[in-house]
Amino acid sequence: MDLGIKGKQAIVCAASKGLGRGCAEALAEAGVDLVINARSDGVLREAAREIAGKYGVKVTPVAADITTEEGRAKVLAAMPAPDILVNNAGGPPPGMWHDWEREDFIKALDANMLAPIAMMKAVLPGMMDKGWGRVVNITSQSVKSPIAVLGLSNSARAGLTGYVGGTSRQVAGSGVNINNLLPGIHATDRAMSLDQSVVAAQGITLEEAKAQRAATIPAGRYGTSEEFGAMCAFLCSQKAGYIVGQNILLDGGAVNATF
Ligand code: NAP
Repeated sequence: MDLGIKGKQAIVCAASKGLGRGCAEALAEAGVDLVINARSDGVLREAAREIAGKYGVKVTPVAADITTEEGRAKVLAAMPAPDILVNNAGGPPPGMWHDWEREDFIKALDANMLAPIAMMKAVLPGMMDKGWGRVVNITSQSVKSPIAVLGLSNSARAGLTGYVGGTSRQVAGSGVNINNLLPGIHATDRAMSLDQSVVAAQGITLEEAKAQRAATIPAGRYGTSEEFGAMCAFLCSQKAGYIVGQNILLDGGAVNATF
């Protein structure tokens, strides 16, 4: 399928690995030039080199912490007026409701709510002026079905979801579409580290922890970054112009709900 976005420009945040990398690769495959971001410079540069080599697009790596104002300024300086923005950052750590203090919430809100909002505020005016834009926010299945140990994530992502619900409808008339992608369990470093905490808590092996989790997913397996990226690229495509403010689950059926 021709996604109709060849030659467009995209910022993909937190994209040297995992789901962000999957989105970057799928956009590159569609012919989109990229600014990709992550904190570790070496891994990021290697990712940029690989993606550019594989798809023949321009890929500019910007090493920065996207949850900080300086980090965002660096990324935006490299591409001030993108056509496409994919918001992403690392997820907050797991824990218990009584562990979390104000500072923990502020960190989670900064990373998973206020950072993507700041990025949107920076790029939406340019997209609206052009009459075309796409924003995809990577959130989590926890928005629809809370994951108890990820209370910090549940809280911050619910806040972002509320913001997108309203804002997407304020900008849709200017040809700008904002949607959220909600990953269930995907085979990335993040899933591995959550599995490691199950290993520590339950005294089982990593293979057992993975099998235990896979058994809770109707598809019977973890998702892949490639599958995730494909949906992201579709949402960023010309074909997705009538999809506004949606929360799209990619979870192998894990959330047991009709709607
Ligand atoms: P991952 O495999 O650990 O990859 C995270 C990527 O983000 C890396 O490239 C990392 O590079 C970068 N990154 C992390 N913090 C950053 C920051 N502050 N600034 C810039 N770059 C940053 O994680 P993932 O599985 O792709 O997860 C992506 C998001 O989806 C997370 O928020 C996660 O909570 C959420 N999610 C994932 C799953 C899943 O099953 N994988 C499920 C639900 C939700 P550096 O470390 O070098 O910065």
